[in-house]
Amino acid sequence: MNLCDLAVDSIAALQPYVPGKPIEELQRQYGVRDVIKLASNESPIGPSQAALAAIALATRDLTRYPDGNGFTLKQALAEKFQLDAGQITLGNGSNDVLELIARCFVSPVDEVIFSQHAFAVYPLVAQAIGASLVEVPAKDFGHDLTAMQQAITPKTKLVFIANPNNPTGTYVAANEIYGFLQAIPDNVIVVLDEAYVEYGDNEQNSIDWLKEFPNLIICRTFSKAYGLAGLRVGFALSSPEIADLLNRLRQPFNVNHLAMSAAIAALGDEDYLQRAKQVNAEGMQQYIEGFNKLGLSYIPSKANFICVDVATHAADIYEKLLQQGVIVRPVAGYGLPTHLRISIGLEHENQRCLEALENSLAEAK
Ligand SMILES: *Cc1c(COP(=O)(O)O)cnc(C)c1O
Repeated sequence: MNLCDLAVDSIAALQPYVPGKPIEELQRQYGVRDVIKLASNESPIGPSQAALAAIALATRDLTRYPDGNGFTLKQALAEKFQLDAGQITLGNGSNDVLELIARCFVSPVDEVIFSQHAFAVYPLVAQAIGASLVEVPAKDFGHDLTAMQQAITPKTKLVFIANPNNPTGTYVAANEIYGFLQAIPDNVIVVLDEAYVEYGDNEQNSIDWLKEFPNLIICRTFSKAYGLAGLRVGFALSSPEIADLLNRLRQPFNVNHLAMSAAIAALGDEDYLQRAKQVNAEGMQQYIEGFNKLGLSYIPSKANFICVDVATHAADIYEKLLQQGVIVRPVAGYGLPTHLRISIGLEHENQRCLEALENSLAEAK
């Protein structure tokens, strides 16, 4: 008997999410010692000292269950964003929240809209439910909101917008998103995924829209600019009605005690965030200059990574980079077979990556 036949059809058809290659895996497979990983948009500057101190303190309470309501973290977030704590849903990473949203609103008869080249988790969570996937062709590698609006039908339940988008780093201007929200029917849920919003300039603009659009859900995370990817904390901001639904559905203790304690500390560490943004801006410039020198084109990015067009089969270059101990991210699965996505690292890491890229391109000729 084939056990796969026992699974729900929509699950049996799923392809697993492919994460960036872990450093230890490359060390095991290739015997390379000095590995740098620029593959998962992680913070290159390590966690905030305040977060580390909070974790040390919080270890004392590890025999107890975490606060299932996440009171203190929600309080801190509510204060920062000038919202009611009842508008917040905490997640085990924002991936958790994205899945909760899909499970909360989407059934197999519904359609879910997302953009070409958008974050892989959107089709994944929608497909798991057996919903119809509607992928709208991108415009200049980014979201084409006009086309996405035109793709809405009476069956549309959910629209995902990543801003900035991963893996392309493209950005849709606030006024365009606002216009989109105004134009679409209010029974369509819009998920605005702002995992990289802190790297931009107008961080809090979108949150004002929650007052006007009860069908809007904004997702954010501590994994990127706040440097806590390993702990898994993300959150959704929404109308209280939606937050109430999501909070009914989530697991009672979906975010652990160490993670919440560190997130509260990280949220208060403004210096860390400024340093993260500064290092990112400088690294971005370093890559742009490096790509220009190598004659490579790239997709302009507002995030902490950049997609470069290596003008050849990118899988070969990826492999050659691995051999030199540099892990980046192939994005052929996103419909970008000649691009590689590189997370912005520290100056010496970026330097090594650019050199390895130059070597790899020369070898590939
Ligand atoms: C990294 C990322 C997330 C955040 O994932 P977490 O589960 O919070 O670590 C969400 N959306 C996009 C588009 C991302 O790139």
